[in-house]
This record gives sequence, C-alpha cells and structure tokens, in this order.
Amino acid sequence: MKIPSTEVIIVGAGFSGIAAAKKLHEAGISFKILEARDRIGGRVFTRYLKDDLYVDLGGQWIGPTQDRMYELCKEYGISYFETYDEGKNILNLRGKIRTYKGIIPKMDPISLINLDILMRKLERMARQINVQSPWSHPKAQQWDQITLEDFLRKNSKTKSCFEVIKIGCETIFACELTELSLLHALFYIRSGTSLETLINIKNGAQQHRIVGGMQRIAEAMAAAFREHLLFESPVDKIIQRTGELEVISGENSFSANHVILTVPPPLLKRIQFEPGLSSEKRKLLDQYPMGRVGKCFMIYESPFWRDANFSGQVVSDDPLTHQTLFDCSPVDGKYGILMGFMIGNRADDYFSNDEKDRKARMISQLVRYFGDKANEPIQYIDFTMSDETWSKGCYAALMPVGAWSNWRDAYRKTEGNLHFAGTEAATVWHGYIEGAVQAGESAAMEIIEKKKKEKV
Ligand SMILES: Cc1cc2nc3c(=O)[nH]c(=O)nc-3n(C[C@H](O)[C@H](O)[C@H](O)COP(=O)(O)OP(=O)(O)OC[C@H]3O[C@@H](n4cnc5c(N)ncnc54)[C@H](O)[C@@H]3O)c2cc1C
Repeated sequence: MKIPSTEVIIVGAGFSGIAAAKKLHEAGISFKILEARDRIGGRVFTRYLKDDLYVDLGGQWIGPTQDRMYELCKEYGISYFETYDEGKNILNLRGKIRTYKGIIPKMDPISLINLDILMRKLERMARQINVQSPWSHPKAQQWDQITLEDFLRKNSKTKSCFEVIKIGCETIFACELTELSLLHALFYIRSGTSLETLINIKNGAQQHRIVGGMQRIAEAMAAAFREHLLFESPVDKIIQRTGELEVISGENSFSANHVILTVPPPLLKRIQFEPGLSSEKRKLLDQYPMGRVGKCFMIYESPFWRDANFSGQVVSDDPLTHQTLFDCSPVDGKYGILMGFMIGNRADDYFSNDEKDRKARMISQLVRYFGDKANEPIQYIDFTMSDETWSKGCYAALMPVGAWSNWRDAYRKTEGNLHFAGTEAATVWHGYIEGAVQAGESAAMEIIEKKKKEKV
C-alpha cells in the first residue's frame, strides 16, 4: 500500500526516535515513526509484574550532567529518586567475601595504590580526548591499536588490581574488554564526563531512578503525537531519489523528504539502501558489534539486607553469576529488589542455562552475601537484549581496535537526506539514554534548519 507523503520518516521509537519526533512536532513538521516492535522505548523496557511492582529490564539510571533527562522529567512531572547507597558493599574475589565502604573495594595496600594510579591515568588520558574527533589526539593511532584489556593488564601490577578494574570496566562498557579499543574507552569516558562519574552512584551515572520506570518518560513524550507512530512496521528498504525518499516496510511504502535512522548499528546493516550507504559506513557496520549484558532481578517482600547495614552492592569475579549487583527496590521500599548484571561471556554462559538453573545460581550466591533470608524470594525475572531481534545486544555498539582511526565519524555523517541518530551517533553521553535523546534532537534540528534555509 502506498502511504501519502510526509516530510520526515523516523525509523525506531526508542528514546532517540521519540526525541527527534518531539522536536519535529514542536516545529510543526509532519512525520511518521516506523517502529519494528509493538512498544516504544527500544533498549529501555519497563515491565510491570503487578500494579505496584515493576522492573527496568533495559536502561534505568540517570545522573548529573544528563541535563536533557532531568529537563524531560521536569517537563512531564515525572519524579526520580536516589539509588539506595548506604551501608557496606561486598567484594567477592577468588571465593573470598569482604565488605567495604565507598567505591574502592578493600584490597592489600599495593593493589589499592596500583588501582588508584591506574584510574588516575585513565582519567588523565580521557580528559585529553576531543569527543567530536577522538582520532585527532596525537596518540590516537597508538591508543586505537590496543584493546582496553591490553592497557589494563599492562598497567596492573597485581592480580587483584586487574580483577577489580576489569569488573568495573565490564560493568561500564558491557562487553569483554578485548572487544573495544583503548581509544573508544577513553572517548566513552570523556563523553560521559569522567571515569569517576561513570562508576559512581552519588554524583555519578547511577544516581537516580525514575518512579514508575524509565519507559514512562518515552511514553509521556510520545503522548502528543501517538497517532503518528506505527508499530510492528520494520523498515526493510530505503530508496533515495532526487528530492524524495521511499521507505518500504513489508507491503507498505512511505514517501518522505528526509529519513532519521535511530536503530542500533547491526540493525542498520539489515536495512537495504538504494543507492548503498557510503563505503566508510558500510565497512564500519561490518565490524561494529553490540555489547552483551543481561539483568537478573531477585524480588523479596522487603529489602531485608538494609537492616543488616548492607547497601546491596556487590562486585564479584564468580564466573557463574553476576559481575555487579545493585539494590533496585522501589522508592518506598515496599519490595526488596536485587539486580545483577551479567556481562560479556558470563552473560552468554548464564543465559544458555534454563531459568530454574539461573535462579538457583543466583540464590546460592545471594545467600552467601546476605544470609538465609535470601533463600525466600517472591519472584525471579531476568532478561537480555542480546536475544532481542530488534536490539541485538546492549548497552550500545562498541568501536573495536582500529575503527576510530579508519572510519572516524562515518557512523553519524548525514548522507543525502538520510540522517543518523541513536545513542551510537552521540558525542555526549554516548551509549546512554541522554546520548540517544541528544542525537535524536540534533538530527531533527538539522532538518529544521535545512527547511528554514529552503524557505528563505
Ligand atoms: C540492560 C541495559 C541497561 C542499560 N542501562 C542504562 C542506564 O542505566 N542508563 C542509561 O542512560 N542507559 C542505559 N542503557 C543504554 C540505553 O538504554 C540506550 O543507550 C538507549 O536506550 C538507546 O536508545 P536509542 O533510541 O538510541 O536506541 P534503541 O532504544 O535501540 O531504539 C531503536 C529502536 O529502533 C527499532 N528498530 C530496530 N530496527 C528497526 C527497523 N528495521 N525498522 C523499524 N524499527 C526498528 C527498535 O525496535 C528500537 O525500538 C542500558 C541498556 C540496556 C539494554
């Protein structure tokens, strides 16, 4: 079926697509959003288990300097609350459990000094990166030729230092550390302000959670233009002709003057383009894998660990379960929820087992940390976006060794009237929801400015 033309087609109704649509709506420019799934939010997905019980299966935290997220909360009257961060944290290293306070786990003094020096070094290097052009740093070539893991191994003098920084970085980047270049890691850190900001709860990227779940924000943003959203409409092909684009989704064909693409890179690769995308973009897409992370939630009648002065935070090298664990209970503490991140190969292994086994693994670990009460959850739920046809992984795609030097900003470059957004096109808070919003807004602004010029 041929659908009457609209000025802009937006592909994908994650935060980036919805943010682009909001800008176009406010500017009075006509658009349609084509979304493959039957819901909005993309890599943000809030699941309600009961009226008063929900879990964020995808993105959930916001923190200082994510200004657009706080502005959106204010605009739509959506409340947020402090992530629970009181009491003792746990380090589970080589089978031994130790408690500690603050962000640095308790280790032998040499490992502690080593960790401090290493983190400062990463901070110093990241501060020198220009997020608009990471490849322009005098040492960019050198930093792009090694993986983050190579760098951490070289700079870790003790096993404990390496293991702790490795788990921390795996949680930040959601992958094996051999999968991204040092240069990408430095860009990512700079793009999110600093390493400390990315790690921290207080004054960091994990500071706040949204009352009612993160997906609420996307729903609130889309309420004003819901009728322009088409679900279960995966885009298969885009044909660019002079002055017009044809967007094909199944039996339907849409025409538009501009298209904004907000899909994750592996899914961009699945769309057929006529004429083809630039060779730089295609070559980058051939080697631009997504991170791998799953979340598991153990739900209790109350956050009982708080009574024993535990924060619920754990850092662990146990290969069978999570890397990190957080207290994700609701704001009123009506339920107690512990959320574990399984990352990289650990995620692949964990999710290859059946649910009964996954739950049993988690329970036995939680009993070690918090005692017998952990044996009595009221519910267990887990999820990984790696299994999702329309995400293919998360948190975001990662630039491997050599990619920044070879392809530079090819990913986000406009091609004709094709505009590229999504968190992977962001230079600020790249990989985060804030980045997705900013990239969506920039793509919309590019079209708005172009249209203004055409009118003059
Ligand atoms: C487990 C997990 C935890 C995370 N934690 C955080 C966090 O705490 N804080 C934070 O800021 N970020 C976090 N993130 C990252 C954050 O969720 C993402 O950066 C952000 O949601 C990406 O938004 P996006 O709009 O760029 O892409 P997406 O959300 O992926 O949106 C793209 C949309 O395009 C659709 N699509 C794909 N292909 C097609 C097609 N061919 N046609 C039509 N539609 C298509 C998809 O269905 C999807 O809805 C997390 C992510 C995950 C998965």
